[in-house]
Amino acid sequence: MKILVLNAGSSSLKYQLFQMESSEVLAKGTCERIGAGGFITHKRGGKSYTEEVDFPNHGVALKKVLSLLSSKEYGVIASIAEIDAVGHRVAHGGEMLKESSVITESVIKYLETIVPINPLHGPPAIAGIKACFALMPGVPQVAVFDTSFYSTVEASKYVYALPYEFYENDKIRRYGFHGTSHRYVSAKLAEVLGKPIEDLKIITCHLGNGSSITAVQGGKAIDTSMGFTPQEGVVMGTRVGSLDPTVVTYLMKTKGYSAQEVEDILNKKSGLLGVSGISNDLRNVVDEANKGNKRARLAIDVLITSIKRLIGAYTAEMNGLDAIVFTAGIGENQYNIREMVCGNMSYLGIEIDTEKNASFTRGIPFDITKEGAKVSTWIIPTDEEYMIAIDTQRLASK
Ligand code: AMP
Repeated sequence: MKILVLNAGSSSLKYQLFQMESSEVLAKGTCERIGAGGFITHKRGGKSYTEEVDFPNHGVALKKVLSLLSSKEYGVIASIAEIDAVGHRVAHGGEMLKESSVITESVIKYLETIVPINPLHGPPAIAGIKACFALMPGVPQVAVFDTSFYSTVEASKYVYALPYEFYENDKIRRYGFHGTSHRYVSAKLAEVLGKPIEDLKIITCHLGNGSSITAVQGGKAIDTSMGFTPQEGVVMGTRVGSLDPTVVTYLMKTKGYSAQEVEDILNKKSGLLGVSGISNDLRNVVDEANKGNKRARLAIDVLITSIKRLIGAYTAEMNGLDAIVFTAGIGENQYNIREMVCGNMSYLGIEIDTEKNASFTRGIPFDITKEGAKVSTWIIPTDEEYMIAIDTQRLASK
């Protein structure tokens, strides 16, 4: 079975074509600058091909993807009829779409109704889905939601202590994001530990340009750091993370900022970039901190504090901890950050082997636990696309 996985961003379209029997990625790539020019990078069998193409919308980008996948020179299939199903990454499933779902007219209609709570990611995802229906009629389409891993979270963890009508009428609540990644790495951890996930209390740290931390007990998410939007929680590349909400109104009242201006500050000018004044990329911030830049050092320290706080809180919520997982760009690659996060945590049983941590092997699950430590600590490369392909295969085969 061949499954095409699509991840549509506001100006991008990422794709991977899977051969499910061998769990192999036949080809993958990204269309960028959709709506403002266009550029495609297509990879197949270790070879990379790039081309500037005008992409006025996601539909035109998808057409290009399909023609490359089935082209003589760069393709991996004879015709697009070989694609058995398409899996879409959809950030938000709202309160109704609690599980990965075969996409029907009514699913699209519901996704359209929740665009106001998902303004950045909703429209491109819907555009990608509609483009697929137009270009590949009859091929099953499946939506896999970032939010659905959190359908098991209890109301006491997702209700904000606002007047209740804002939850009831406006659906303002914690939703949580990156769920497909947290679901994948927690299941993978149980597999590599050789233990039933039902017996484990795990904290998964997805640390990238966007970051979130999830408490997974018995295979189910019980709490997570991202909230109503992917803004709350950990300090991120350009996002502030958790913040006293009064700062927002204070800025508006004293500086005359509009709602949009404050949102831009919190989303695009804060986080590592905001504190360091250097970059949203942690590599650059670490380089400058190592040269003695005090604000770069402070940005790293503020980031580490935000992660440790959540690990402590989730250990308390689960009344224990068996394992911690680090994943995504920072979690998988930055040994120094893992060392700082896990440092001075022995009270909770978290102790890592600093040598193993520094000389880890990239791209595979890697154990960095110190001998004798109560809590296992692992680096597990995330693979959201594969998880989407698995769900798509399961639902499309029904
Ligand atoms: P992501 O959003 O998962 O792509 O992660 C982006 C973040 O991961 C950036 O802050 C980078 O500093 C960090 N990162 C990604 N790749 C590497 C790498 N190979 N080495 C060190 N840091 C990396």
